[in-house]
Amino acid sequence: MFHRRREFIKALMSYTSLAGCSHMSRKPQAAPSRRVRIAILGGGAAGVSAAHFLQKNGYKNIVIYEASNRLGGKSNTVHISQANYEMGTVGGAKSYRVIKELSDHYNVSRIQIPSNRTFHYIDNLEGANSPASRRDLFDVLTGYSDYVGDLKKEPYRSLERSHGFQNLPKELCMSFSKWAEKNNWNPKGLQYFLNYTVTPYGYGYPDEIPAAYILKYFERSFFTSFMKHATGIRKELFIMKNGYQNLWESIIAGLQKENSTLEVRMSAKVSKILRMQGDKHIQVVEEGRQPEVFDFLILACPHQHTPKIINDFGQEELRILNKVNTYAYYSFAVDTSVDWPTQGVFPINYNRAREKHPVFWYRRWPKLPVTIFYAYANDPNTPADEVLKVIKADAKKYKWPFGKVHVKRQWEYFPHFKTSDLEDGVYDRLESIQGYKNTYRVGELMSFATVELVSRYSKNLVNTFFK
Ligand SMILES: Cc1cc2nc3c(=O)[nH]c(=O)nc-3n(C[C@H](O)[C@H](O)[C@H](O)COP(=O)(O)OP(=O)(O)OC[C@H]3O[C@@H](n4cnc5c(N)ncnc54)[C@H](O)[C@@H]3O)c2cc1C
Repeated sequence: MFHRRREFIKALMSYTSLAGCSHMSRKPQAAPSRRVRIAILGGGAAGVSAAHFLQKNGYKNIVIYEASNRLGGKSNTVHISQANYEMGTVGGAKSYRVIKELSDHYNVSRIQIPSNRTFHYIDNLEGANSPASRRDLFDVLTGYSDYVGDLKKEPYRSLERSHGFQNLPKELCMSFSKWAEKNNWNPKGLQYFLNYTVTPYGYGYPDEIPAAYILKYFERSFFTSFMKHATGIRKELFIMKNGYQNLWESIIAGLQKENSTLEVRMSAKVSKILRMQGDKHIQVVEEGRQPEVFDFLILACPHQHTPKIINDFGQEELRILNKVNTYAYYSFAVDTSVDWPTQGVFPINYNRAREKHPVFWYRRWPKLPVTIFYAYANDPNTPADEVLKVIKADAKKYKWPFGKVHVKRQWEYFPHFKTSDLEDGVYDRLESIQGYKNTYRVGELMSFATVELVSRYSKNLVNTFFK
């Protein structure tokens, strides 16, 4: 319908101002009445945070639709022999200000991660398993000082100030590797920096990931906490005492206690959402129920799948959503041994060719044998068992202890755009349609995939449009 992007955005802008909505950077003239009814699709960090901040601002007429049978999304805590293990979100840092605000408000305990854990690495080609050496530490620190020096400069500082990825300087659209090379990073320091802090945690391959994402993830305050903790200067990293899933469950329980009108529909099968043109009404069709009408819709679920239920997206919007990439990332809870090091990475030469081999492991309870292994696969349809087979073969080859597999998870992880899409202003276009047909988007794609950045984005969106 709209052949040219500029025309499309202009049309949307005029529509949104007519409908009383606005661009993310332009605050609406007046917040909607506190009586409006709001549907939130998705009960992960983004959706639950949005519900909390909406309720805090006086909006009480909210329904959360969650497709699965549990809250938390990628925060997924399981119990094995009465001990809790994280199959998804693990930790946080001093810089996690919104997560701290939420956990304090709902009395959810955080505990420090002890910094005296043994940290090993394995060379993927050699299979050697050895504690991180002083030499490695030196290289990581060189990477760190290069990094912190660059973070003080302007293109980065504007990213730090913004929520999401609007108005990205071109320099930050290139791949992280190119960006680091351009900024004369010590290549060995860079290698170690990435090996320890990016790829093992599911954030992909730095020669393809735009610099903006990694810089957003490792904002100065987070990076400083991370390094202080890793080098033993100060313990600034935490985990949730009863697991991250419990944080989101506790928030919902707390909100419902304060306000019995908040509804959460678990295992909800939303088959269709109809947004009335030129009208504020949004109809949500859920299997087994009468269609329900809302004034606003907040999408807090994987955006790339929303065209399956919302069939009135424009061509340009569909084009944007088709460009979303993810990584197939896996986590497995496996019995190893109490003598097995508590955490480590498999860093050297880890690239697409090394798919399915483990990339990281973490043993939450040093006195218990269960270890969580993490891995990638190139094809998102790779079954978890196929990845597990490769990890098992590695275990046999290198004589690692490897026993019962308790839990297997496959994640569609870290939704992101390619460098060329960022250069093309994809986020400016996405942000410009916040509020179009009374619909808003939150979650990993908009803010980067950590619980803090996701929750911070939801808070900012609510305080921009609903305050
Ligand atoms: C293995 C792993 C380790 C991680 N470790 C950390 C860490 O240590 N620290 C950190 O900060 N972050 C970590 N993360 C990242 C963090 O967990 C995520 O970025 C964050 O939880 C994403 O929240 P979200 O609400 O945007 O998305 P999600 O958690 O994906 O939530 C989306 C929700 O929407 C639901 N949904 C989907 N489709 C529909 C539909 N049609 N209708 C209704 N509901 C729907 C889903 O079931 C899900 O509950 C980790 C993630 C993984 C997978």
